[in-house]
Amino acid sequence: MRLPIVCIIGRPNVGKSTLFNRLVGRRLAVVDPTPGVTRDRLYAETECDGRRFALVDTGGLVMQSDDEMQREIASQAQIAIEEADAVIFLVDGKVGIHQDDEAIARMLLRSGKPAILAVNKIDGPKQDADIYDFSRLGPLEPLGISALHGRAAGDLLERLVAILPPEEPAEEPEEIESIALAIVGRPNVGKSSLVNRLLGEERMIVSARAGTTRDSVDSVLEYEGVRFTLIDTAGLRRASRVHQSLEFYTTLRSVKAVQRADVVCVLIDASQQLGTQDLKIAEAAALAGKALFFVINKWDLIEKDESTAGQYVHDLRIRARSFAWAPVVFISVLTGQRAVKILDMAREVLAENRKRIPTAELNETVLNDMRDKPPPAVQGKHIKINYITQTEATPPTFIVFCNHPKLIGESYQRFVVNRIRERYGFTGAPIRLWWRSKSPRD
Ligand code: GDP
Ligand code: GDP
Repeated sequence: MRLPIVCIIGRPNVGKSTLFNRLVGRRLAVVDPTPGVTRDRLYAETECDGRRFALVDTGGLVMQSDDEMQREIASQAQIAIEEADAVIFLVDGKVGIHQDDEAIARMLLRSGKPAILAVNKIDGPKQDADIYDFSRLGPLEPLGISALHGRAAGDLLERLVAILPPEEPAEEPEEIESIALAIVGRPNVGKSSLVNRLLGEERMIVSARAGTTRDSVDSVLEYEGVRFTLIDTAGLRRASRVHQSLEFYTTLRSVKAVQRADVVCVLIDASQQLGTQDLKIAEAAALAGKALFFVINKWDLIEKDESTAGQYVHDLRIRARSFAWAPVVFISVLTGQRAVKILDMAREVLAENRKRIPTAELNETVLNDMRDKPPPAVQGKHIKINYITQTEATPPTFIVFCNHPKLIGESYQRFVVNRIRERYGFTGAPIRLWWRSKSPRD
């Protein structure tokens, strides 16, 4: 199911990232991937009153060149509004209305997108009256909040849930015979070329469905009995008027493609290295529970000896420490070298992401590993592990029951995830691990 996408937009420094972190709330219990690649996270899934949605902080995305800053702000806000299902428009209650706020408000009104106008930095009741001036921005009723102190965060979420579009029904029953594959990556890495190459392969039965969704251009092909829907995030941009903010646009669009995908492949140009935006998209994919792998394209451009590929992977692993579990494929779309390998890999990682290990087996293997190397006692409290079970697949989700779940440290969590991977692979699958005590009080 595709979650509705909520974008937080507004001028720089109004508090978008602060609000994002506030709404995402308590640290995510996901240990794998280890956070830390991006301090300014772009994407998180969260929930209020049983409605789940994906929150995107466009503050973490801003990449402006100084001379064009003004234009960039407007163009990025425009992109975010177009891509969002609902918008939180944030303004600064301390500064008052700024001309960029007016520009954004006009775009928002024109777009007809459901939106909330939140006036930030209303830190106490003394500032409450400061919000009324913002009524001038249009028909939206201003809501005073303090992202920093959490004031009115609950009201904001309530209003947000009320304007979210109705839940989309699950698209189709999960068949292993069909795989939605999102091909993401920075501009010019070869996404469109790859899709065209795959569609041109003789082995493929192609039924192109160009433009069937508003989101991106999908192509459907059949390969060795599996129906692949290729979600090409580059496809539409040529028709689009967006030029300066291309990277911003590509990233936001990728987040959306990730939502619709079963498998995400991050395409990288071999003559470059993995970039911050690539990492953010990979992180979004992992957090959304999608199978993931990296593809190094344009391998023909690289002068190679027998250690070149190994060295490239080594460097990639250092840049993307949290994604050691995602496999790497080298291809050249230009020469056609191994392009089809991408489809094989997509099938492999999806199977891993859907794999289930019976509890009895886990308790003979991973539980024993934990008993051999128990977590250290904390504050004199001895931690006793009871059992481990896989509660879900897609993504593989494990729960360890023990007497003091809150005392388990990060390094021990990593140890357990590593043991699971060493024993069962789960290559390309973003494993989730939770700790619970059996007592209903917890
Ligand atoms: P962004 O550029 O819109 O993402 O803004 P940031 O989240 O980075 O915040 C910009 C500055 O405003 C930071 O110094 C924050 O600490 C501050 N800030 C954010 N929210 C509040 C708030 O509710 N009250 C006050 N007083 N300051 C805030
Ligand atoms: P997109 O923006 O990611 O869709 O990238 P394109 O598919 O438009 O490709 C960008 C450029 O890279 C084009 O000029 C392609 O011909 C070129 N290109 C794509 N794949 C390869 C490759 O494997 N090797 C080389 N040398 N060039 C490639």
